[in-house]
Amino acid sequence: MIEPTSEAALKPCPFCGESNARVLVEAATDRIDIFVHCYSCGARGETIGATFKDRHYPEAIDIATEMVAMSGAAAESWNMRQGGKEQ
Ligand SMILES: [Zn+2]
Repeated sequence: MIEPTSEAALKPCPFCGESNARVLVEAATDRIDIFVHCYSCGARGETIGATFKDRHYPEAIDIATEMVAMSGAAAESWNMRQGGKEQ
C-alpha cells in the first residue's frame, strides 16, 4: 500500500483558508498525475505527472517510490503557494 505524504503536512488553502486539502492521484494506464485538491473551494495545486512509457521501471516498487516522491513534490508546491499568496 502506498502511503502518500501526510495530509497533516498540507497548509491551509491559500484561496479559501480552509484546511480541507488532500493529495489526490489520477491514474491512467500509462501515466499518473498527483496534485493537491481543496475540497472546500476546488482549488488545485501544481500537477506532478509522470508518464510510465517514457520511463523504465525494473520493479513495481520503483513506481511506489516515485509516487511518494511526487506526492511530496505536490504538497511542497502547495505549501509554497501558501507562502507566496498574492495580495
Ligand atoms: Zn480552498
